[in-house]
Amino acid sequence: MEGLLTRCRALAPHSHHLSGYKPLRFYCSPSRGRRMVLSRVFQPQNLREDQWHSLEGRSGELTCKSQKLMLRVGLIHPASPGCYHLLPYTVRAMEKLVRVIDQEMQAIGGQKVNMPSLSPAELWQATSRWDLMGNELLRLRDRHGREYCLGPTHEEAVTALVASQKNLSYKQLPFLLYQVTRKFRDEPRPRFGLLRGREFYMKDMYTFDSSPEAARQTYGLVCDAYGRLFDRLGLRCIKVQADVGSIGGTMSHEFQLPVDVGEDRFAVCPSCNFSANVETLDMSQTNCPVCQGPLTETKGIEVGHTFYLGTKYSSIFNAQFTDVHGKQSLAEMGCYGLGVTRILAAAIEVFSTEDCVRWPSLLAPYHVCLIPPKKGSKEEAAAELTGNLYDHLTEVVPQLRGEVLLDDRTHLTIGNRLKDADKLGYPYVVIAGKRALEDPARFEVWCQNTGEVVFLTKEGTLELLSQVQVV
Ligand code: ATP
Ligand code: MG
Repeated sequence: MEGLLTRCRALAPHSHHLSGYKPLRFYCSPSRGRRMVLSRVFQPQNLREDQWHSLEGRSGELTCKSQKLMLRVGLIHPASPGCYHLLPYTVRAMEKLVRVIDQEMQAIGGQKVNMPSLSPAELWQATSRWDLMGNELLRLRDRHGREYCLGPTHEEAVTALVASQKNLSYKQLPFLLYQVTRKFRDEPRPRFGLLRGREFYMKDMYTFDSSPEAARQTYGLVCDAYGRLFDRLGLRCIKVQADVGSIGGTMSHEFQLPVDVGEDRFAVCPSCNFSANVETLDMSQTNCPVCQGPLTETKGIEVGHTFYLGTKYSSIFNAQFTDVHGKQSLAEMGCYGLGVTRILAAAIEVFSTEDCVRWPSLLAPYHVCLIPPKKGSKEEAAAELTGNLYDHLTEVVPQLRGEVLLDDRTHLTIGNRLKDADKLGYPYVVIAGKRALEDPARFEVWCQNTGEVVFLTKEGTLELLSQVQVV
């Protein structure tokens, strides 16, 4: 084993004249010998289309761009109808998405919890949803014969949880409780990959307020946080009026991402910005109910849904608090869902080309891919430079730690590896090509999102990459 002293070395002071990062006096290289290399990434790919179909239990089913791409480049792998293995790149992107969600939810006072997926039948019988939800509920029995479902949503569970707190005061409210967990729904037609699964991740938040006015204010806060979240991801979602469906309540909005493969239809009024899911409108309605202007219809993917619930659930489970007059009063509730895995696939759907995955910059699984020269080529002498750049990047640009991948498949040409990198959509690809032999050496830097290619020295490359935003 290497000793501590030999693993530590002083960095030459002259390498720190750049703005954007602070010089480290000493470093114990955490990455030495542990560079992340592409050849080690677990990425089953190149399934033929007939193989996907048989693995997904169907044949001839229509698929969409995100599903095809995600299967083809090894982001997901079919397990059973509507269920997918999420592979390493997808998990990395999803963890980033969850970090962005956490930031936005916690900025408005959200507290993260985690409720069981096994949900006892009695809870659902209390609200009648054990029967109302019909075949959508995945039901099971334990060894004692007790019945459960696998949670498709958690209004019942969270309301029972809050109701169990007997001494709540209005002073403690509102509570904004949320979780990011797997949800289970026996969809009649699971399809389009992660867009409509039978097992998927949802962020669900439940809010408890002391008055209808306060609850409406909370409702507005959460909707605004959703708006900011989608802005940060570069997704132009439209907030539309929606039907309350089986969840119930008095007010509801959907966040729709306009895309052709979307299964929802919503109407927008270009003159006054009114928008609503067509389910909420009269069948024959072609004019805006607000300004009478003509409505235009668009297809969309529902990426989020918010409900003002009032006391529908708190009255059933007796979720009460002591109000300002010392009396017991029912909590006013709201519930708010984001389709986490659906948002990932929807983003890929809108950003990608037919052949190449593109991510919202914040969610790229790795921000930088380094491509050293081919073994045996004239440029091979520059191989060392790439490893060196890798170490420097991860040492002096702290946010890039864990974000740089080295494509060590040096038996392949640079061109072939660049093609693969293009398919996976790393925001930056840095190549040690011909100009890496110049003095000073120059790297070829591809900025995937702008399509630009620039030739930069090591310092220039570090400077450019130190501006990358990582969540
Ligand atoms: P849909 O109308 O698309 O079936 P829903 O209205 O039944 O969805 P909600 O109960 O509002 O869904 O769930 C909250 C969010 O969870 C949805 O806005 C969506 O983003 C996501 N979601 C719902 N069903 C699925 C699914 N089968 N696969 C992936 N995500 C889903
Ligand atoms: Mg919905």
